[in-house]
Amino acid sequence: MRTSILSTGIVALTTFFSYVAGQDFAASKGYYTDPTTGIEFWVNYMSEGNITGDGEFSTVSWGGYQWGIALPQDAATVDTFDYIGMIVGSTPNGTGWSGVVHGNNAGAAMSNHLMLLAWPYNGEILTSFRYSLAYADPVPYNGSATITQLHTEINATNWKLVYHCKNCYLFDQPGQTSSNMSTSVGHFENGWAQSYIPVSDPSDPSSPIVQHNNGMGEFSVAIASATQASYSNWATLTATHTNTATATAAASTTTVSSQTIPTGVTYDYIVVGGGAGGIPMADKLSEAGHSVLLIEKGPASSARWGGTLRPESGWLDGTNLTWIDVPGLCNRIWQSGGSNGVACADTDQMAGCVLGGGTAVNAGLWWNPNPADWDVNFPAGWQAADMANASARVMSRIPGTDHPSLDGKLYMQEGFDVVSTGLGNAGWSNVTANDVPDQKNRTYAHTPYMYSHGERGGPMATYLVSANGRTNFHMWLNTSVKRVVRDNGHATGLEVEAFNNGGYAGVVNVTSTTGRVILSAGTFGTAKILFRSGIGPTDQLSVVNQSTDGPTMIDSTYWITLPVGENLDDHLNTNLVISHPSVKYYDWLAAWNTPNTTDSTNYLNSRTGPFAQAAPNIGPMFWEEIECSDGITRQLQYTARVEGSEGEASGTTMTLSQYLGRGATSRGRTTIGLGLNMVVSTLPWLQNDGDTEAVVKSIEHVVSALNTVQNLTFLQPASNVSAADYVANMPLTYANIGDRRSNHWLGTAKIGTDDGRTGGTAVVDLDTKVYGTDNLFVVDASIFPGMPSTNPSALIVAVAEHASERILALSANEAVAQYGRCGGLNWTGSMSCTGTRKLPFA
Ligand SMILES: Cc1cc2nc3c(=O)[nH]c(=O)nc-3n(C[C@H](O)[C@H](O)[C@H](O)COP(=O)(O)OP(=O)(O)OC[C@H]3O[C@@H](n4cnc5c(N)ncnc54)[C@H](O)[C@@H]3O)c2cc1C
Repeated sequence: MRTSILSTGIVALTTFFSYVAGQDFAASKGYYTDPTTGIEFWVNYMSEGNITGDGEFSTVSWGGYQWGIALPQDAATVDTFDYIGMIVGSTPNGTGWSGVVHGNNAGAAMSNHLMLLAWPYNGEILTSFRYSLAYADPVPYNGSATITQLHTEINATNWKLVYHCKNCYLFDQPGQTSSNMSTSVGHFENGWAQSYIPVSDPSDPSSPIVQHNNGMGEFSVAIASATQASYSNWATLTATHTNTATATAAASTTTVSSQTIPTGVTYDYIVVGGGAGGIPMADKLSEAGHSVLLIEKGPASSARWGGTLRPESGWLDGTNLTWIDVPGLCNRIWQSGGSNGVACADTDQMAGCVLGGGTAVNAGLWWNPNPADWDVNFPAGWQAADMANASARVMSRIPGTDHPSLDGKLYMQEGFDVVSTGLGNAGWSNVTANDVPDQKNRTYAHTPYMYSHGERGGPMATYLVSANGRTNFHMWLNTSVKRVVRDNGHATGLEVEAFNNGGYAGVVNVTSTTGRVILSAGTFGTAKILFRSGIGPTDQLSVVNQSTDGPTMIDSTYWITLPVGENLDDHLNTNLVISHPSVKYYDWLAAWNTPNTTDSTNYLNSRTGPFAQAAPNIGPMFWEEIECSDGITRQLQYTARVEGSEGEASGTTMTLSQYLGRGATSRGRTTIGLGLNMVVSTLPWLQNDGDTEAVVKSIEHVVSALNTVQNLTFLQPASNVSAADYVANMPLTYANIGDRRSNHWLGTAKIGTDDGRTGGTAVVDLDTKVYGTDNLFVVDASIFPGMPSTNPSALIVAVAEHASERILALSANEAVAQYGRCGGLNWTGSMSCTGTRKLPFA
């Protein structure tokens, strides 16, 4: 049936709800009764309007967008994962797709939630369930959700689908961490997206899609508004069509061209991963005269290395800059489209899979290490006194600056002034943070960045430049390491595959007997390579064995059992939100394509102004130490920035992100899925009273300090909410992980003397060598035993500086004569066995 339904069909009644759980962007909400089925929906309505920028968190869409829901009558008390839904999608230019993200009680981010995509084709509405575990294109979903179409209508510019969705608020993709929305909580978040660019093959429900360009966002659904007494009758309505595009759909695969590995070439050191750990390692090892190959999975990022990512409007065209290079564009990674081809697609957390790794996509905050971070967290040989030289070398090569604009001025300091006034009133001291790295108790500072010459700088602009000047240094981009090829405990090389066009494929070897492999692929990347190389807990190695890796995985006789993936940590983030009339939001989102002309001109001509600073007006940074009842002192760091969060809109708002760092004792775990993707399966936060006490007490202190500022309003927590209640009620769930993490993940291959093969917690020894191997090392965030005071990248570079010294000081392996000992639990010597003796060792 085709009727003209869609432009005036939805009547938004006057029932509006004031509850805002998280993000709530809808032009209006109301009720609509579908005349054909008689089903009454509670509808979220995005009105007809022009999309600006990339349409993120839009309340309008070209042609409009509507999504309605009806829930079982008892949904407010009995959890249901089923609902009856209605999508009214737009095809304003005759084509496109629309989608729903089935959110959770805490959020509806694209990753980790079931998506329903739909579009008209040949008089039918085609539907497809998808999901995405990363900031990447969604792939077909094979969980238990099913959809039954109850009614469809299509005209030239719009279409309507009424459907019954079962198990749609239960995320149970096989091999992934499951989660669900609970209707009895009273409210949840849903997401939407729409595109007027057609899917690649509109006749195929599992067709690849092009990213949404006609609006996207999130809105709150109040359960009490959507429950319907007649739901059970409607749920029995006869299907007009049953979806066919779920379980059988295959993920689209793209073929990349690869280069063959030159025969006969070996390297003294192969470093895997060109990030904060890998780049300085490759530099130091090549400086010592060894032949070094640095293998990086992703493409170039900074223009200096051939990167090409620039705003579509062209304002960086013709410059030696990509967005990665411009400090003010650092938040691009979080914007719609910004993570494509940049963020790692094989982990559920944000990580940079480009040259530079995290140091290419981060905000560049750069800290002279607090000596306590080494003393409290690290073992002997890695204490503050041992690390002093390494830290000093890092700060000398990359001094950083807290005045990044080249005219020496600080821009947009209203937020800094407001917060620092309150802290000053309460007796906190103003410091230059990197001059006094140990002063992290009741101090505040302007933010230091690794930026230099008004550009990102960091390891890519220093260590990589010196490495690249040596003939014994080689770098392969676009090449992903699948696994370490090993002969018992001795790594002979690496199996690699092209990740993008031009990457290498095959096996690349280290120098026979004396060659070494350094894994610096990051907290998730290194753990993944170890798992795929048969090194880790047995349950994880078994998952790999059941995956597509199974037939070629190293035999289980040679597995090395170590607690890889455990000890996972990240700064727990707890956002506080304030508002003050003097604070002004700068439109960083618009800056991507339509920057303020004066600001972009000043930046391009002289590297001055807001674009020389990180978005969104970060500062002040402030710190407090809390001595908790369990006797442990815990470190808190606050990053203040000018933007809203926790449902508070940007404008005059500031978010103060509290990070719980050094001293926190909760730990989590990362595991691997059958799709060989990494997931945070145990959250590392607030598992004990001490950790919670530190978070709560420090919030109380900050609220009290800032309440001394005239005209300042605390929005989150509101004035009638205690810090303890605020923390207790802020969801600490997998679904809300995006709000609680800080992207400082570390710890999955811990350094220590308690050998993990015999029940200890350590994966690498004090020389960063993986237990049970003689030439396989880990040097990146993975080896950190615990969180530092601050953002970690400068400390990771210091760890690389120190590790390089320790590794270079080790004597070279020698081949063990035939029948000589070359393995065993207590064996620390060479594992290069000669002859045919290849027995596994326990
Ligand atoms: C959005 C964001 C903002 C941040 N902000 C800050 C900040 O302001 N200040 C700060 O100090 N820290 C910040 N951090 C954290 C910091 O950047 C990371 O802790 C740090 O980069 C981790 O260093 P790493 O060497 O362990 O790994 P990474 O820097 O992530 O490097 C790992 C590299 O390995 C590559 N790789 C992965 N798998 C493979 C494989 N199989 N084969 C080959 N290569 C592989 C990756 O592509 C990547 O280049 C931020 C992180 C993120 C994600």
